Amino acid sequence: MNTIKTIAIIAALTGLLSCGKNENSIRINQVGFYPGQEKTMTLEEYNKAEVVTITDAEGSVVWEGSADRSAVSPWSGKIRRIFDFSEITESGTYTIHAGGDSATFIVSRDALKPLADAALTAFYHQRSGMDLDPEIAGKWARKGGHPDTLVYVHASAASASRPEGTVISSPKGWYDAGDYNKYVVNSGYSMGLMANAFRVISLQYAYNKKDSRKFWDELEYNHDWLLTMQDPEDGGVYHKLTTPSFEGFITPGECQQKRYVVQKSVTASLDFAAVCAEMGSTWAAHHGGNLEADINTRGVWEKAEDGADAYQWAKDNPEAFYHQDKMNGIYDPDVVTGAYGDGSASDELFWAATSQYMASYPGDRDVYLTDVIENMPEEFTLMSWGNVAALGVFNWIESELHHRKFGEFYSGLPDPYAKQKEEIKGKCVKMLLEYCDESIKAAENSCYNSAYGNSPDDFGWGCCSSFCDQAICFLYAYELTGNRKYVDNAFRNVNYILGQNATGYCYVTGFGYKSPMFPHSRLCHSDGIEEPIPGLLAGGPNPAQQDIAEVRKYHSSYPDESYEDVMPSYASNEVAINWNASLVAAITWLSYIGNEL
Ligand code: CA
Repeated sequence: MNTIKTIAIIAALTGLLSCGKNENSIRINQVGFYPGQEKTMTLEEYNKAEVVTITDAEGSVVWEGSADRSAVSPWSGKIRRIFDFSEITESGTYTIHAGGDSATFIVSRDALKPLADAALTAFYHQRSGMDLDPEIAGKWARKGGHPDTLVYVHASAASASRPEGTVISSPKGWYDAGDYNKYVVNSGYSMGLMANAFRVISLQYAYNKKDSRKFWDELEYNHDWLLTMQDPEDGGVYHKLTTPSFEGFITPGECQQKRYVVQKSVTASLDFAAVCAEMGSTWAAHHGGNLEADINTRGVWEKAEDGADAYQWAKDNPEAFYHQDKMNGIYDPDVVTGAYGDGSASDELFWAATSQYMASYPGDRDVYLTDVIENMPEEFTLMSWGNVAALGVFNWIESELHHRKFGEFYSGLPDPYAKQKEEIKGKCVKMLLEYCDESIKAAENSCYNSAYGNSPDDFGWGCCSSFCDQAICFLYAYELTGNRKYVDNAFRNVNYILGQNATGYCYVTGFGYKSPMFPHSRLCHSDGIEEPIPGLLAGGPNPAQQDIAEVRKYHSSYPDESYEDVMPSYASNEVAINWNASLVAAITWLSYIGNEL
């Protein structure tokens, strides 16, 4: 044993004695704060330091103080203390000292911009069917796989003009998650969520042209694929493009299984119809104009029109839900990949009717309004791939924001539906604000100062994305009201996933000093590169531990600590486009607001 090693071991032991555990007791956003943003950290129970000191890059003490408050975990009983050092507003790198522990953080006018960029670039890494350019993908550039120019029509999807075994071409699109399949429901939801946020950011802030180009290219790449998923005979949309079973943890180029399009479904068809309309509206926003003027253009209507037949098919086949087990009982080969099954399409209908109403040919719009009214949710619920009502609500809120900025769209023209539209918008605004006001109450007594993450139900499959989703709701509320409390709480939820949490992980790959290294991702695992692809949001703590047989042992069963950074953990450490869509929308939006605080 050499001397340096001995010193290192003594130092490590001293650290262990001082904090009681071999981990950092300081829990803080590890990516960065904006100068005007609220800044807090949480100290774990085992660190008893009364006073916390913060030094700047030169080592001068710039802040010293005791805890603002303490909070008790409702499930573990652990008592944590929250320190507020929002007084630090100058850009720079700082170090926190608490007992024997220390942690650095940065304050910058670009605090979240690199993360916003990486989260979007992560979609580029998920692209199927093309070689990735090293200029964009860096050292993770790779050969393309899954050209999907030879895809078979599964028996469940057969129609007169496309009998079982017909070969179709269905290239491009994003790999869904840690697997290599392409699912319409999840991919449509991801596009809708990001497109909605993109348009509001474009409306309210000066959206960077380069960012806009990059965002649009990414959406188009997946939309080009989505358009191939429609059966031209009747307009119905295949639920997914998939191998019968999951591939092994091999590179895309090594995959050999046949790929199929399977059963048309009502949810896939409605999400498809919604996304076509969203592409129309987003096309107008992307082309830089005032949406109020540009929405009334052929380019928008034609994109929305692509979804009209799918919408009609869904209306004609309201019970065509995707039941994988039932399907496997009738048809071969059996398909056992992600099901994305759903038992209710009322939320999909509300979103599709809303977005089609807003972007289709003016003469066609009225037919959608009845469906909007009939499928309007009673109250606001947090969005997910299976519950997309929030996306329709967001569309109406966007319409309200437009109205405030530019006046009524059809100004000067009689609008027979003006009253209904005002009522719908009013209800959407009210239900969103009620949801937000109720949610943010929980932050007051929270261990980690966040509105989300204070009930055991808040943790589960992909819960890190729910922190972002709720932040997105707060940002819509902020744009509507200008009330700072909504921005603060959006940042708080984001702080949670970036490190101010019970495991101390910054849950985004490539960011923070404690970050996932072994995501459940075939791309990350098979590329021979030690560091995972950056910008991917891990699913996060999941007390259900559905993967316990594969993971073998979780270190904790507490809801907020039930996370393992190991490749087999599909329940807590997978990555997915819908989760990254939440990350992109929340972080990009905050990166624009953060600069204005
Ligand atoms: Ca649904």
